[in-house]
Amino acid sequence: MSINVKTFARLADAAGALTQERGARFLAGGTLVMRALNEADPGIETVVRSTDPGLTHIGLSSGRVELGAGVTMAAILAERELAYLHPVARAVGGPAVREAATVGGNLLAPSPYGDFAAALLALEATATLAGGFGQRELPLDELLGRRERGAVLVASVAFKRPAPDAFRFLKVTRVHPKGVSVLSIAAQVPLSGGRVNGARIAYGAMAPSPVRAKAAERALEGRSLDAAGVAPALAAAHDGTAPADDAIASAWWRREILPIHLRRLLLGEQSARHS
Ligand SMILES: Cc1cc2nc3c(=O)[nH]c(=O)nc-3n(C[C@H](O)[C@H](O)[C@H](O)COP(=O)(O)OP(=O)(O)OC[C@H]3O[C@@H](n4cnc5c(N)ncnc54)[C@H](O)[C@@H]3O)c2cc1C
Repeated sequence: MSINVKTFARLADAAGALTQERGARFLAGGTLVMRALNEADPGIETVVRSTDPGLTHIGLSSGRVELGAGVTMAAILAERELAYLHPVARAVGGPAVREAATVGGNLLAPSPYGDFAAALLALEATATLAGGFGQRELPLDELLGRRERGAVLVASVAFKRPAPDAFRFLKVTRVHPKGVSVLSIAAQVPLSGGRVNGARIAYGAMAPSPVRAKAAERALEGRSLDAAGVAPALAAAHDGTAPADDAIASAWWRREILPIHLRRLLLGEQSARHS
């Protein structure tokens, strides 16, 4: 079967094509879409691309960070101002994948993919969606929480730069150094007078799409980051999760190890990507 490839200079036109064309799929870095095409996925009849320069824009101003949806993991690794995100970008596949893999593609990648999306959730990012009639912004957890995302086209994501040392990330994988996640955890734990003030925690591979751990966040509020202080958050760690059994790990195993790794992350015992 032949595939139509449509390339648009404006993202708005690409968004229009995604809603109008039958079996249309947006192509970003293509690490997953090209695989699907090579496997002759019958659901893809038209590939939609865009050369809109906004897609690859990185904006850093007055404590706000904006990443075009087409920004790659390699581009993030090349930006010193985004050093807190380097462990996350480095955790996505191997070097060849990172050259192509984009922020937008990571948001829409099926679980257990989505390590970067988990980080963006913990940073309380908003997503700007492109549409034929303009753009609109919505919280990322709202976008990721939708059961049916339809022909959504993400233009960019934006978030407030985290306080120094407040952002943490870990990824658990069985294949080193570039395996897919058993799970990943991202957390933003700002401290005020030695107490957590405004915790944000998100998991990758613990639900059909990356999720916020809101019960654990609440349990951490006002607590200190020591063994006794984090205990209530660990007790609430599973709330809102629904991990899958897949080729990487069983749901049971994911549940078993989640509190262990959350504890390590919160106590600062593990900052590396693998375990
Ligand atoms: C060998 C290998 C290893 C990998 N390892 C990891 C890993 O460790 N961690 C991880 O998280 N992922 C991993 N991935 C998955 C994938 O590479 C990443 O999630 C990547 O970020 C996807 O981005 P992409 O630009 O390549 O997406 P594409 O393949 O272009 O697209 C993926 C999906 O997202 C949609 N999409 C892309 N951009 C947009 C947009 N702007 N708006 C709306 N929809 C969009 C596409 O239509 C498609 O449905 C791996 C993939 C491979 C092949």
